[in-house]
Amino acid sequence: MNTATLLLLTRPAVTSAPTNDSGFVEASAAAPQVNVMDLGITRGDGFFETISVVDGHPQALEPHLARLKHSAELMDMPEPDTDVWRLAVLAGIGAHQLEHGVERELFAKLIMTRGVEGTGTPTGWVYVDTGEDFTAARQGIRVVSLDRGYRHDVAETSPWLLQGAKTLSYAVNRAALREAARRGAQDVIFVSADGFALEGPTSNVIVRNGDRVRTPQTDQGILAGTTQASVFEFFESRGIRTSYEHIPAGELADADALWLVSSVRQAAPVTNLDGRDFQVDADLSAELNTYLLSRTH
Ligand code: PLP
Repeated sequence: MNTATLLLLTRPAVTSAPTNDSGFVEASAAAPQVNVMDLGITRGDGFFETISVVDGHPQALEPHLARLKHSAELMDMPEPDTDVWRLAVLAGIGAHQLEHGVERELFAKLIMTRGVEGTGTPTGWVYVDTGEDFTAARQGIRVVSLDRGYRHDVAETSPWLLQGAKTLSYAVNRAALREAARRGAQDVIFVSADGFALEGPTSNVIVRNGDRVRTPQTDQGILAGTTQASVFEFFESRGIRTSYEHIPAGELADADALWLVSSVRQAAPVTNLDGRDFQVDADLSAELNTYLLSRTH
């Protein structure tokens, strides 16, 4: 049974022609809706956001909308009309609740593509559904590091590679996860060609050494994570120093603890990286996840 709620955006961009609706219409998620010539399908040419929805509340909605705009800028695409997207997310959650009741955890996916080839009109939709059960991952994951093949300064030297944009071209990220599975792991930490720890295929890396918590600096062609920002808030509220740094991948083995953090899955403590075991502080990880799941901003 398809339990998803789908809203098609009639005015995804600030440049979209006026319409008589609120900028979106509900449609069946069980029926085909996207044109086969849409550049999002034929070229992976577009961008997306995935937002956690907990007890009906979308988490970090404004940072996600800001990143949506940032991806559009990096991709030379029309500016998303964030007022329409915001309303669509809230309406999608409301419609889902009306049909299925309030569920503890949902996710909302926002997708905007360059549109059907030749039209110059972007396509957008919001999709709300029940998330996967991440209970096991929140207790621990095995991770391997994989070379991303780009230097840490790729965003500056080669902006056309779109590193740091949340593009729909995630086939490479999926391939990395299959490679991890072949090596007996569940996730990946990408490393730059010149040896710096970057991010996961769908997450940011958090590194704790004593009372110091760091994450790779976002000028290295990686996403500025909304979850990572909240993780920093959590640690700062406990008097722990946080910082953004260029972190040599070799330093990860010396960490007291590592987490991969992302919307929906939240904080997954690393139990093993490239064969080196990490002691997991289960209570701390549980507290961190409780904090993340209770965010109201
Ligand atoms: N890095 C990449 C490549 C991602 O795809 C994601 C999220 O999917 C993240 C980091 C984490 O971002 P957020 O915490 O905002 O979900």
